[in-house]
Amino acid sequence: MSPTGFRNNPFPAGRATALVLGLTFCLAATPASSFGKTFKKNTVLMGTDIELIASDTDETKVHAAFDAAIGEMARIENVMSEWKEETPVSMINRMAGRKAVTVPDELLHVIVAGQTISELSGGAFDISWAAMRGLWKFSKGDEKIPTPDEIRKTQPLINYRDIQLDQTRKTVFLKKPGMGIGLGGIAKGYAVDKAMQVMVNAGIKNAVIKAGGDMRIQGTEDGKPWAIGIQHPRDKTKLLGTLALTNISLSTSGDYERFFIKDGILYHHIIDPKTGYPARGCRSVSILAPDTMTSDALSTAVFVLGPEKGMTLIKSLPGIEGIIVDDEGHSHYSPGIERTFRNGK
Ligand code: ADP
Ligand code: MG
Repeated sequence: MSPTGFRNNPFPAGRATALVLGLTFCLAATPASSFGKTFKKNTVLMGTDIELIASDTDETKVHAAFDAAIGEMARIENVMSEWKEETPVSMINRMAGRKAVTVPDELLHVIVAGQTISELSGGAFDISWAAMRGLWKFSKGDEKIPTPDEIRKTQPLINYRDIQLDQTRKTVFLKKPGMGIGLGGIAKGYAVDKAMQVMVNAGIKNAVIKAGGDMRIQGTEDGKPWAIGIQHPRDKTKLLGTLALTNISLSTSGDYERFFIKDGILYHHIIDPKTGYPARGCRSVSILAPDTMTSDALSTAVFVLGPEKGMTLIKSLPGIEGIIVDDEGHSHYSPGIERTFRNGK
């Protein structure tokens, strides 16, 4: 399931579709209009469902742009994944408490952006959550809750202030052994931004790229803003509502994306650094921002902060809007979004 969906989407994204057709890649096109056709392509990268959509008249150009954008996201995954052993991020983690690691410019850029969101959110967003990677497991059939002892030992290792950056030397050092960083709450957004840049450079003006809950919306479809649906956090068949969007980014973080239920309690993948347990207070958070790296990190940050503090943060940031569904299912809208949101459509 993906947290966001397209209204009237005749070709839903996802692994399920790919499996049914027995294909890794799927391509579809809707009927032509004076603006051209809408093309789609689906794949899986960065552990998530990817959907690329373009509205254009030139099919060959669209195919080439899709391939280039997918190549760009695969390249970024090989820099930023904390799950692949050979990435610079994994090297930083292996050297925790031992040695500063020289990193590529773009990785430093994403880590610096993450640190900014940590400061803004009082540590609710913290890439050093990854001291706990592997302790919590959310995959179907391989679920795991850490023991209280494991939490007690690793939770103090989560502290973004212990990530030492040297921007002149371009190095990253994790001060304590056992620390780790994980960019799952920010790198997908960065990858989506870079992939859209590749599409734009390839001559595509009207497109949407979606990686799980992170989405870049560029230009228009048939001359109108893209109609983007936001997934209802408890009813897969429903949308929370739709937004008419252009040249903006939208990210949704939800407790329904990677989760399991044990003894009636829902455990999900967004960890509150203050407790070491899944954050409580929200079912989903959607953020609109000028770029996807920002919307991605902020949706995670606001989710951890909870409805009240989260909405205060959204309102304090220029150019940022948001929708929070709290743990009782009530929706809260920032002032700029309330005017344009079409509920339940
Ligand atoms: P999704 O990965 O479904 O798009 P998010 O953008 O909200 O969802 O990111 C959740 C991911 O962020 C987790 O899977 C994990 O990799 C990472 N993460 C978990 N807790 C935090 C946190 N407190 N701060 C930063 N990143 C986190
Ligand atoms: Mg996020």
